Amino acid sequence: MPSARKMCYDKILPQDMFRPQRMRSVEGRMRAIAPRDKRWVNGSTIRIRFLEGSDSQKDMVRQIAPEWTQHANLDFVFTDDPSAEIRVTFDPRDGAWSYVGTDNLHIPQNAATLNLGWQDEGVILHEFGHMIGLAHEHSNPVGGIQWNEEEVIRELAGPPNFWDEATVRHNVLRKYTADQILGTNFDPDSIMLYAFPAEWTLNGISTHENEKLSGQDEEFVRSAEMYPGRATPEEAAQPLGIGESIEAEISQAGEQDLYSLVADRPAVYTIETFGDTDTVVALYGPDSETHLVAENDDGGIGRNSLIQAELEMGKYFVQVRHYSEHRTGEYRITAFR
Ligand SMILES: [Zn+2]
Repeated sequence: MPSARKMCYDKILPQDMFRPQRMRSVEGRMRAIAPRDKRWVNGSTIRIRFLEGSDSQKDMVRQIAPEWTQHANLDFVFTDDPSAEIRVTFDPRDGAWSYVGTDNLHIPQNAATLNLGWQDEGVILHEFGHMIGLAHEHSNPVGGIQWNEEEVIRELAGPPNFWDEATVRHNVLRKYTADQILGTNFDPDSIMLYAFPAEWTLNGISTHENEKLSGQDEEFVRSAEMYPGRATPEEAAQPLGIGESIEAEISQAGEQDLYSLVADRPAVYTIETFGDTDTVVALYGPDSETHLVAENDDGGIGRNSLIQAELEMGKYFVQVRHYSEHRTGEYRITAFR
């Protein structure tokens, strides 16, 4: 089962290293599928640039990766623009990995954000799943995984991963210990499944590698918790005038509300929420739904958000979500300068 040795990991930013993985409840089932706050603005066009690769490697990615956009309200555009949000490499000695969702925006523009150390349909869909904000589907039905550590370390030392023991401990053994696996149900067909053979565990747990999006993958990415509808940010955003105050509500779990804000002259602008809802606000622009200007959780009064930023002229998008992916609530948002 050589293909099962192809492990991937979702790269995390240094500042997120020590945060515990958050579990997400989907219809009562606990899954750690989407780390909070990593979603792109719903309807975003994400630009993808190849830093290297043969024509056939690139063609394969161009052909397969956009399958996500048939289900998620996102668009992928392949471009040579140096400011592309996603940079793809094909380094065979660096395994397969990607940063998750909007974490990609924190990586220097000349550095790769997604590596395909090998190319097949499954790995391309898997890594682009991370790119749109998904984590590994690793909840497990029967009391978690007891790793056969020696075996896992030995296997991953070889191609195509070439991981040393510390890396294996960090990426696999420590991350997927029994106490983090609380689920009673998981999707064995998810493209985001971490595939490994039974010899890697002492209690006979194994998973199989998937090559296609599962029904649950498709359903999840088009749900309100990820990328619902078909509207572009331009179409979906509600205009928020300078000096205006809008009463609004996160009316279902995972919902993101979107506002557009026009900076008609360069100045310091303030965007603030009020009320009892623990909001998180992100500001994108000018004239872009993927260029992150600022993000804030609790800078305002109580658990409210406050962004104060010097803005050049242009159109901006303000994304508002609840801190908790399970909760809803009313809030008021205002912008002034
Ligand atoms: Zn992965």
